[in-house]
Amino acid sequence: KPALTQLGNQMTRLTGVRAIMKDIAETLRSGAGQDFINLSAGNPLILPEVEQLWRDCTADLLASAEYGDVVCRYGASQGYQPLIDAIVQDFNRRYGLQLTERNVLITPGSQSLYFYATNAFGGYTESGTLKKVVLPLSPDYTGYGGVALAPDSLFAYKPSLDIDTAAHRFKYRPNFSQLTIAEDTGCVLFSRPCNPTGNVLTDDEVQKIAALAAPHHVPVLIDSAYAPPFPALNFTEMTPLFGENILHCMSLSKAGLPGERIGIAIGNEQLIQVLECFQTNMCIHSPRYGQAIAARAINSGALADIAAQVIRPFYQKKVAIVETTLDQAMPSVPWFLHRGEGAIFTWLWLKDLPITDWEFYQELKQVGVIVVPGSSFFPGLHEDWEHTRQCVRISLTGSDQELEIAMQRLAAVVERVYQQS
Ligand code: PLP
Repeated sequence: KPALTQLGNQMTRLTGVRAIMKDIAETLRSGAGQDFINLSAGNPLILPEVEQLWRDCTADLLASAEYGDVVCRYGASQGYQPLIDAIVQDFNRRYGLQLTERNVLITPGSQSLYFYATNAFGGYTESGTLKKVVLPLSPDYTGYGGVALAPDSLFAYKPSLDIDTAAHRFKYRPNFSQLTIAEDTGCVLFSRPCNPTGNVLTDDEVQKIAALAAPHHVPVLIDSAYAPPFPALNFTEMTPLFGENILHCMSLSKAGLPGERIGIAIGNEQLIQVLECFQTNMCIHSPRYGQAIAARAINSGALADIAAQVIRPFYQKKVAIVETTLDQAMPSVPWFLHRGEGAIFTWLWLKDLPITDWEFYQELKQVGVIVVPGSSFFPGLHEDWEHTRQCVRISLTGSDQELEIAMQRLAAVVERVYQQS
């Protein structure tokens, strides 16, 4: 084993979702003669129309004179100019903005964007004070857990719960009586729609958060990996919000291009420049092949059309299957499904669950169903809260029949587990 630095150790530690992914990979490999229904993936399914779109854009690129310039040359750190231009035009037209090319940065996936931002704005200042990375509503994307080089900078807030007992549904809301954004805040970060819960913060809630941050000039990163206009994985009305201190962060991963690693940040020129400097140091620039095909799909309007007409309805139907099956099959225990407002997951809260989420995950494996235990989705939450051990994330990346069977088996396990206590 190589000798590692403090940072080396921190980055290689097997924590949170990495530990679970390893366990899942080993479970699937060992097989134990069982066919698992694997609802753990964050990987979107390959939809034929979406694959065809990227195939067509690639064919167009290959046939164009541009090809050599795209793959045989280095380019600007900020991104490939035709993609930047496509984003500027599309967003100005769609949302009535006045963006210029200086308001856009292309990164190799949006994960890298969160790495740049949480370390450029969060962490220790020159004078040694700690600037927090505030996650205003926990649970949130597990990937935020590993990006801050000063891990104690991550600071998540417990939410309020809106519970509809009769309907077995609930929704997380930011707890504005607790949420503090102040001098010691470096940046604010949240996903909308949210991975893992499928929550969509309302326009009002987002505006309130941005207004709390504005007087302190704190950047607010809105992780829009599932938002409109692409992949448009929102099942409730939502408006992307822009503003002086808002960094609107997008990803093409859920629009069928996770392998090409394309993240997009839109915001104030000065913020964009800071992130661009980080990027130059880290990797010079994003690969340009993906950027060139993305420019085509955005310019033609095909990406936004396919998102709204194919990607969104596909996953919306899956949410309905999970909801209907659980409503029919669940025993009479205090279970609550998060309102399915977006993303490619459902989030189940089993109140008073007699075992931990990790043990529940093991029980489900015994009946051939794999989900992700919920406790890995509370990065930056420093207080102990039993709720964190009472949830699971169910990925909607199964066939209709698999989802139905898996939810029936889950309901049977829930019944047994509560009865035994
Ligand atoms: N943000 C959220 C909420 C995600 O769910 C994901 C991936 O699952 C990412 C960011 C990272 O996406 P990428 O780096 O592929 O753009």
